[in-house]
This record gives sequence, C-alpha cells and structure tokens, in this order.
Amino acid sequence: MIVILKDGTKQEQVIKLQQYFEGMGLRIHMSQGENSTIMGLIGDTTRVDDELIASLDAVEAVRRIQEPYKNANRKFHPADTVVDAGGVKIGGGYFQIIAGPCSVESETQMITVARAVKAAGATLLRGGAFKPRTSPYAFQGLHEEGLRLLLKAKEETGLPIVTEIMDAAHLPLFEQVDVIQVGARNMQNFELLKELGKLRKPILLKRGLANTLQELLMSAEYIMAGGNEQVILCERGIRTFETATRNTLDLSAIPVLRQMTHLPVIVDPSHATGVSRLVKPMALASVVSGADGLMIEVHNDPRHALCDGAQSLTPEAFADVAEQVRQVLPFRCRTL
Ligand code: PEP
Ligand code: MN
Repeated sequence: MIVILKDGTKQEQVIKLQQYFEGMGLRIHMSQGENSTIMGLIGDTTRVDDELIASLDAVEAVRRIQEPYKNANRKFHPADTVVDAGGVKIGGGYFQIIAGPCSVESETQMITVARAVKAAGATLLRGGAFKPRTSPYAFQGLHEEGLRLLLKAKEETGLPIVTEIMDAAHLPLFEQVDVIQVGARNMQNFELLKELGKLRKPILLKRGLANTLQELLMSAEYIMAGGNEQVILCERGIRTFETATRNTLDLSAIPVLRQMTHLPVIVDPSHATGVSRLVKPMALASVVSGADGLMIEVHNDPRHALCDGAQSLTPEAFADVAEQVRQVLPFRCRTL
C-alpha cells in the first residue's frame, strides 16, 4: 500500500502518520521524489482503512499495491536507485561495464586482464574465486587465494571488484569485496539472501536459469527486507528449448524490469550466449534496450581458460566492444 502525501505537508504531520502506521505493526518506506513524497507501507495492511487515510489533510491519495514485491517496486520508489559500487555509480543514468575473467586463475592472468580491461574502459573488475560448476570434478576456483589476487588487482588498477559468494559462511572473507555477486544457481537460496540483507554493501543478483522476473524481484526483496537496498539486477539468459546458444538472452527483461522496479538492471551477454562472437551484438542490443551496465568475461588466453573460455573475449575484442558500446550509449532507451 502506498500513501501519497500532499505537497507542502508539514514534517510533524508526516511523523504523526508514521507513528500511526507503526502502531499497527507496519514498516514504512519513505520516498522523497521531486514532485511528491510517497509513504510505502510494508506488512499486513488489511486492517488499514483506505478511505479514512485518504480523507486526512496531509494525504493526496492512497493506493493498494497488488505485487508481492514492495521495497523493489517502482510504485514505492518512483525514482531510479543509484547504487554506489565501491565509488562507481550505477543506475539512474549511470552506466558501467564490469569485465574480467570467469575465474581467477593466477596473479599474472588477473593483473594482465585487469590492466587491459581498465585501459579499454571497464569501470569494475570481475573474477570468480568460488565457482558454481555443474561438475564436481571441474575447477572450483582458488577460494581465499582467488580473493587475495582480486584485491591485488584492485590495488594495481583502482578498479572496484565484483565476485560471487556461494555460502554465507564465507562472508568474513568478503569484507573487502566491493560488490558481492549472487549467481544464477543461488538466486533462490533464501537463507543466503537473508544474510546479504544484513550487510550495507551492493549485491549483484543474477536471474536464475528458469526464473520469472517476478521471482527475481522477490529474491531482491529478501535482501531489501533486511535493510540492504543496494541491489543490482542482472539478466544473464534463461533456459529455453534452443541449443545454438548456451542460454536465451531475454532482452525484453530490461524494459519490463525498468517498469517493475527502480533497481539498476545490467546484462551479462557472456553467460547469456556462451559464444564469444555473439557477445558484441548482444551487448549493443542490451545497451540500446536500456541496460544500466554490462558484465563481460575477458581472458588473456581464452583457449586455455580454466572456465568458460568459449564465451570469453580477448582483451582486444573487449576493447572493440567497449568502444562500440560508447558509440551506441546516446541511443539508450530510457523511457519507462
Ligand atoms: C558468473 O558470472 O561467473 C556465473 C557463474 O554466472 P551465472 O551465475 O549467471 O551462471
Ligand atoms: Mn563464467
């Protein structure tokens, strides 16, 4: 339920109203827009008398929100959320490129790739230290050593780092990580999401392999319900009957999510296609479709990568994509 306040409502009236709703056991989310102030009520609002509230002096209108996601709902928070990812802004017009290898493999690999992607225009560095692999016999990541190498690459380049967490028990290791990624396979690991909700650090939440956009937003809601509002959503392709690509990139998810939510939406064309030569066209299409950023896998030697070499770009190919992205950025669709 949202309560839209009249322009010029006095602070004491707002506080009175807040206390009234809190007395009913509701949580309040205030959104101060340019033209209006919106009070979002979270909890069981069945006992709230809409007509009574609508008749109050301070109140312009009262609306029931049907969607089960509240904090993530654009109706609660009409302005775009801008997430501060280690000093780099994303969302609300700010566009960023996250690039780096699928997995952290060695110091030379990490530093070489970090320097190259920075020179090409990437503003955040990715790299998996804990890898969710389909096979238990495949490379699982360098774990603590991987995180150490990521931090070293950050020290060398100044790029904030993004890396995936698979288990809440590893959280103490992630203290210096700028953005914590929740991978597609963990999108509905609700206990993990609740733990991330206790942090005050950006979370990059990837869409599950077979999850709807509403389910993605309900997962974001788990994080936000804990008070962590710094959530970045990532479309990374979904499972369909098509086998020519690793997944099917759901491009329409970008404008649909923009309408459903105020959270930034980025696209990962690498996992969406699984094929390096498809990364550029899908990256450009994502930008024009309104994405707030891209996440692209880059490797100094893709043919010998320990994970996802087929979809990884060489630093040169990445530089070309980044350059073309800059050229289409002015054509980015930002209408709701
Ligand atoms: C990744 O980004 O490294 C990754 C494993 O992606 P996803 O969770 O989207 O498969
Ligand atoms: Mn990968």
